Amino acid sequence: MSIVYLDNNATTPLDPRVLDAMLPYLRDKFGNAASRSHAFGWEAENAVEQAREQVAALIGASAKEIIFTSGATESDNIAVKGVAHMYHDKGNHIIIQETEHKAVIDPAKYLEQNGFEVTVLGVDKYGMVRMDELAGAIKDNTTLVSIMFANNETGTIQPVAEIGKLCKERGVLFHTDAAQAVGKVPIDVEAMGIDLLSVSGHKMYGPKGIGALYVRRKKPRVRCEPVIHGGGHERGMRSGTLNVPAIVGLGTACALAQAEMPEESKRVTALRDRLWEGLSKNLTEIALNGHPEKRLPTTVNVSFLYVEGESLMMGFNDIAVSSGSACTSASLEPSYVLKALGVGDELAHSSIRFSLGRFTTEADVDYTVKRVSDAVNHLRKMSPLYEMALEGIDITKVQWAHH
Ligand SMILES: *Cc1c(COP(=O)(O)O)cnc(C)c1O
Repeated sequence: MSIVYLDNNATTPLDPRVLDAMLPYLRDKFGNAASRSHAFGWEAENAVEQAREQVAALIGASAKEIIFTSGATESDNIAVKGVAHMYHDKGNHIIIQETEHKAVIDPAKYLEQNGFEVTVLGVDKYGMVRMDELAGAIKDNTTLVSIMFANNETGTIQPVAEIGKLCKERGVLFHTDAAQAVGKVPIDVEAMGIDLLSVSGHKMYGPKGIGALYVRRKKPRVRCEPVIHGGGHERGMRSGTLNVPAIVGLGTACALAQAEMPEESKRVTALRDRLWEGLSKNLTEIALNGHPEKRLPTTVNVSFLYVEGESLMMGFNDIAVSSGSACTSASLEPSYVLKALGVGDELAHSSIRFSLGRFTTEADVDYTVKRVSDAVNHLRKMSPLYEMALEGIDITKVQWAHH
């Protein structure tokens, strides 16, 4: 059975051109990039430096400002904990927002347990930070603001340049988790006033287990305490022998994204809108979660009223998507991201995230529209809630049994 893959925000397939670029470094070109005394080392080092240029070019940085890591989780950890610790003498307050990835939330919580003060900002109904709230939250002892570029569940894109400008004016550092945005929307760390930025290889058709952190070197020169201590690789911020094949893969993925972004983003945005319009034409009582326009080309997060997302997914096992319920331990928790937008529990439970990508076709989208519409109609026919709604009963007033 062939499966339509619409879960590209969870991970993307490796672009075959990326694999081709990596293979020599998994075979003959196996040198350690830190070996300075022979050609194997020089060859590996050259490959790493080329990749550093490719990552830097995609975000408007210079190569020296790129640190290779194991992925965006590690980059987020270095940025949040590394900056908080390094600038502890200046202040012990950091600011994040509610819809951050756990890779930012959990390090912030860890800091809070260790004596730091953390402000968690709410978001508006589209998942956007409110600029006046952010401005009001910055204090004399604030050292870092960490707000993601684009959200993984809803695709909402934050006003990053405005945030960067505010942070500059107030003299605080600005980190952005751009795992979902790099390679999909234009990024310029200079124009946007970004001081630190996290990249993930496997969200942009590169390999898993590789990522990067941009750390500004001028105006101001940003410093981070390392999370991993050791041989002093990567300007001392991230020790450990470099994963040369994966770094080559990430560099190639960045070069491809840069070359193809104008065309690809137009094509994928059209597919994204085709999916939403198709569903809206076939079905009533559906809602789009996230910002209607300021949204990633890849992401369509939809609540199907009166239908439970997990059951809906079982209705089309030949389409890979995610639901708005996270299976944490025994219970099904509605997504904390959707809750932060003010989406109620029922609507969060009825949500599906469709995430498109480079290899999604129009046929995939049309098939999905048909399959999902049929499945929703089928489930609604059997749903007592839907019947009640048709009879005009307000289901938000229904008393739910809780576990
Ligand atoms: C996937 C993702 C991460 C984690 O990236 P890894 O490279 O898998 O560690 C962090 N933040 C966001 C927004 C993501 O989508």
